[in-house]
Amino acid sequence: MARLIFLGPPGAGKGTQASTIAQLLGIPHISTGEILRSAVAQQTELGLKAKEYMDRGELVPDDLILSIVNERLALDDVSSGWILDGFPRNVGQADFLDQLLADLNQSCDHAVNLEVPDEVLVKRLLNGGRNRADDTEDVIRTRLEVYHRQTAPLIDFYRDRHKLISVNGNQPIDQVTEEIKNRVQG
Ligand code: ADP
Repeated sequence: MARLIFLGPPGAGKGTQASTIAQLLGIPHISTGEILRSAVAQQTELGLKAKEYMDRGELVPDDLILSIVNERLALDDVSSGWILDGFPRNVGQADFLDQLLADLNQSCDHAVNLEVPDEVLVKRLLNGGRNRADDTEDVIRTRLEVYHRQTAPLIDFYRDRHKLISVNGNQPIDQVTEEIKNRVQG
C-alpha cells in the first residue's frame, strides 16, 4: 500500500515515472493532466471549460480540479493506494487534499519531487515529439513560470511535513525509476 504525490516541473518525466511506479506497486495512477486532456478530446463540459487555460499553459481553476480529485478518490480502486501526478499544483490544492484525506482517514506517504534544470526541461519539451498542443515554446515558458510561482512552493510544504523525497530527474529514465523505487520502499 502506497499513497504518493509526484511533484516536479513540466518535462521532468513525472508522468512517465508515475505510470511505471504505479504499475510496479499495483496502484492506480491518477494524472489530472490526462483526465483533463481526455475531457478536452471528448468535448465534455469540463473539457470545454479547461481547454483555454491549458492552451495558454495556465492552471485550470481550482474548483474544476478539486471536483475531479474528489470524485476520483471516491472510487473503489484507491483502497490499494494511489499516485497523484500533477496534483496538487498550488498551496490551495494541497490544503484541500490534506482535508480530503483527513475526511477519508488517509494520508499521503511521500511527495516525490523530480529535479531537472530549466534549460534541460525546455529542450526536452521542444524535442519531445509528444505532439501535445501545449508543447510550443511560448506555452512552455508560461508553464515553467507557473510552475516556479505556484507549484514549487509545495516542495517546502511537503518538506515541512517530513514527506519530501527529492530525486535527480536529470539521469536516464531507468535510473530515475530505480531511485524512486528504492526511496519510496525504503
Ligand atoms: P505538465 O506537467 O507537463 O505541464 P500536465 O499533464 O500535468 O503536464 O498538465 C497539463 C495542463 O493541465 C497544465 O498546464 C494545466 O493547464 C492543467 N492541469 C493539470 N493538473 C492541474 C492542476 N492540478 N491544477 C490546475 N491545472 C492543472
